[in-house]
Amino acid sequence: MFDTASASNGVKLALLEGQLLTREIDRATFIERAANLGLPAPAIGDAADKFMAIAANQAARRATLRSSYDYIVIGSGASGSVVARRLAENQDAQVLLLEAGGEDLTPGILITETWFFNQGGEFDWNFAAERSPSVNDRSIAQAMGKAIGGGTSINGMVWARGHKNDFDHWAKEAGDEAWNYRHVLDIYRRIEDWHGVPDPQRRGSGGEVFVQPAPNPSSIAPAFLRAAESLGIPTFADQNGDMQEGSGGAAITNVRIRDGRRLNIPSSYLYPVMDQANLTVLTAAYVNRLTIEGNTVTGVEFEWQNEVRRIKSSSEVVLSAGAIQTPKTLMFSGIGDRAELDRFGIATVSHLPGVGRNFQDHPIIGGGLWEAPGPITVRNNAAEANLFTKSRPELDAPDLHIWHVEAPYLSEVTGRHAVENVWSISPGLVRPESRGSLRLKSADPHEAPEIHSNMLSDPRDLAALRRGMEIARDLGNSEAMKPFVKREILPGPLAGEALDNLIRDGAMSMHHPTCTAKMGRDDLSVVDAELRVYGVKNLRIADGSIMPSVTTGNTQAPCVMIGERMADILKGLSTARSVVARPVVCPPEPVCPA
Ligand SMILES: Cc1cc2nc3c(=O)[nH]c(=O)nc-3n(C[C@H](O)[C@H](O)[C@H](O)COP(=O)(O)OP(=O)(O)OC[C@H]3O[C@@H](n4cnc5c(N)ncnc54)[C@H](O)[C@@H]3O)c2cc1C
Repeated sequence: MFDTASASNGVKLALLEGQLLTREIDRATFIERAANLGLPAPAIGDAADKFMAIAANQAARRATLRSSYDYIVIGSGASGSVVARRLAENQDAQVLLLEAGGEDLTPGILITETWFFNQGGEFDWNFAAERSPSVNDRSIAQAMGKAIGGGTSINGMVWARGHKNDFDHWAKEAGDEAWNYRHVLDIYRRIEDWHGVPDPQRRGSGGEVFVQPAPNPSSIAPAFLRAAESLGIPTFADQNGDMQEGSGGAAITNVRIRDGRRLNIPSSYLYPVMDQANLTVLTAAYVNRLTIEGNTVTGVEFEWQNEVRRIKSSSEVVLSAGAIQTPKTLMFSGIGDRAELDRFGIATVSHLPGVGRNFQDHPIIGGGLWEAPGPITVRNNAAEANLFTKSRPELDAPDLHIWHVEAPYLSEVTGRHAVENVWSISPGLVRPESRGSLRLKSADPHEAPEIHSNMLSDPRDLAALRRGMEIARDLGNSEAMKPFVKREILPGPLAGEALDNLIRDGAMSMHHPTCTAKMGRDDLSVVDAELRVYGVKNLRIADGSIMPSVTTGNTQAPCVMIGERMADILKGLSTARSVVARPVVCPPEPVCPA
């Protein structure tokens, strides 16, 4: 499935680096094989030295685990790897990063065009939502990455920063202007290394995050932009610039791909510092729960190398296990709705009814399918063109995110329509009204929680996606797409109930579960504006679960930004300027944090 022989040199070099890390090859073999790729000698030597130093350092760290670290970060995904990196920049701080999954320098993760084959595989937690009548009684797969890099190791590599209004709303919810668009934009500009049309006001250069418009896209991608223009949707040179400050537009996709390889977030943040003696990264380390004395978090309990271990943190624990595992870990640690915890005999440390509630995700409909006269060239992430638009003109921001996909993008139900040489247009809903929740299933920390995603349960979501399917149909049947069309397969002439039924059958997750431990000040809030968990000390959350509302677009970039905010706060660098006095919000029991 993952063809390494025809892979890019970027993939081949990263695979060699992975082999150096696991000591499958020695330095001389690395140098010889990397030279065969035609790479310059100094760069090869530097890479060999770096990865050998990482291997030696991490082996030494594993052999001499400490009983206590200053910071323990749980999860090495989009947010966690950023937090660990930034904390480790202080050479005086001892940082432990615990990751349940394994290594990431493998073909399935590195090869870009076939990224979706990881779903359901070894790098996926393989969660699934409970069946729901709103999606015709289907159980929808809810993929999440389980490897170094978390979701950023199996995702579609899209870099979508979110709409201006998302962050202005977060700031209001948090009561802290440090979360508003202006401040968030500063962070994005600081961390980006943008390789598209320059826009110094909005895009950064020289930062950790290499990002570019999909290079050398398949000819069908610009055709999709012309199709959008023919419907009155303006096109932009950059999907993350001023396009995210207005009413939408179409653009070639911003991707985290370089030299033909996936750039997951650890490749930019973690690997550069993994040779430092103050950073310990453990893989296959599964955190069961936090250890808590009174209302103070003292460390973590985790399983590693067939043993249950407890390690203390002298400063703080940062929970970055993602929007499904973070609330689950909180609940197993006694932080959640008392009634829920009582069901499994878990003693309540902090009664926070919002843990696991407010679940939000982006549905995407596998229901637009066209047969082409011949094979379609698949390049980059196979989703090289996308657009944002409104389902209703009165909305304050776009709510539809419509994708062109150079392959069939269909659910297990609509998949029966796939034939040779097909491509898709798939509308996603990025401002959903439906809300879901998570519940524990048992007292076993290894068991996945019940996920009630309630996708499309709010009729407004179905109505918006109905409009999305109509736009998809107009795009696919437009003059601009004609050279790529032999016939329209889906949705065809379907309308009314029949179109709604196709939407329910074709609904899938865009895999952006978020908001399950939201930042805010109401009764359902779990963290405050500085990401402290209410009712306990020394515990912060930095990942997608803290979003008050899911962002307008894919979620890895906002999660990276959340990781950066967390690090700034912990390092005392936050530019936070609260214009609204933050009220003391405490759960009723047992005690407020001092
Ligand atoms: C198939 C797929 C496609 C996607 N496509 C895109 C895309 O193209 N663009 C985009 O912007 N976003 C995309 N996303 C979403 C994006 O990757 C996530 O929003 C982002 O990774 C979430 O970051 P996070 O830090 O909240 O959690 P994650 O990145 O999920 O990281 C959580 C980490 O914690 C680890 N962990 C969990 N539980 C434990 C435990 N008990 N002990 C130890 N470690 C634990 C996990 O293994 C994981 O590594 C996609 C996601 C998926 C799954």
